[in-house]
Amino acid sequence: MNMKFDRVYYEPDALNYELGKKLQVKYKDLPWVEIENHNRIPELTASANRDFPKLKRLLIIGIRKTHKYVPNHKVSDWLVPFTSSGCRAMCLYCYLVCNYNKCSYMRLFVNREQMLDKLIRKSYEGNPQTFEIGSNSDLVLENTITGNLIYTIERFAREGRGKLTFPTKFDMVEPLLGLEHRGKTIFRMSFNPEKIIQRIELGTSPLESRIRALNDVAEAGYPVGLLIAPVILVPDWKKQYGELIEQLSDELSPKVKKEGFIEIILMTYSFVHNAINTEAFPNAAKLLDKEKMTGRGRGKYSYRNDVREEAEVFLRDKLSQHLGTMPIWYIS
Ligand code: SF4
Repeated sequence: MNMKFDRVYYEPDALNYELGKKLQVKYKDLPWVEIENHNRIPELTASANRDFPKLKRLLIIGIRKTHKYVPNHKVSDWLVPFTSSGCRAMCLYCYLVCNYNKCSYMRLFVNREQMLDKLIRKSYEGNPQTFEIGSNSDLVLENTITGNLIYTIERFAREGRGKLTFPTKFDMVEPLLGLEHRGKTIFRMSFNPEKIIQRIELGTSPLESRIRALNDVAEAGYPVGLLIAPVILVPDWKKQYGELIEQLSDELSPKVKKEGFIEIILMTYSFVHNAINTEAFPNAAKLLDKEKMTGRGRGKYSYRNDVREEAEVFLRDKLSQHLGTMPIWYIS
């Protein structure tokens, strides 16, 4: 992953934090632009859609002020706003574009101690809970710049109760393998067929290395899951997803197959994605398929119910043939 940035936008107070200081040294050769608030950078909001790839080359450094947890009912009990939002990669369907539009560039928040303090306190309320910390960014990617995941996994293992979890599309797991995690972090790797990764998940790790990374973290004792997500019903989807499941069956380790679970999420898309992608990536695959998709309000599209059912039956069938030991937690 090319993690070069062109410019840094920063809140001055962020430089009073240890991580802020570290980043100041790390990116000292880049132009630094002072901002009032990471949520409001008028010159960037005003950019044209075609500038989306350029915006992704910016790094924003600030302090997270909103710490509101959202209840969740899938793998985790809570979605936790954590140490970053946005991402340097450019998956054409990225869910963050719905929230941040063109401004889904990488923002790093320097107040990690404060965020983890709150999480640890919350982990002692009621029954043990699972906290999703990666719903706003890709923490494995972020960790290559900040080391925040290392800090979080180890400190939560010592002081927290319940579990943390995050999904990723990246393979840079080496720094996580030797950590004292005490099984309290559930690592979930996201998979798609290699052709889809190359054409649609721009800037993420290849399939082969994601498989290797998942095997490695399972070997290091982390609880693991795999996501087939988002399922994109391209014209030859049955062939591509059928082959993906066969490859996973051939190459995932016995430990992953014995202990892991599966999540499946079908793609949703939006008017905003379509507008940005049409202008920023005119030659890229067209993801808005009016034949198979239907509007769900607020400019969002998802696959029609009958199309979803066909996909669900196909995937369940293939998975039971090839990865039958792994429970499917949900298909959404
Ligand atoms: S890796 Fe995740 S966060 Fe980054 S662009 Fe892709 S979907 Fe968005």
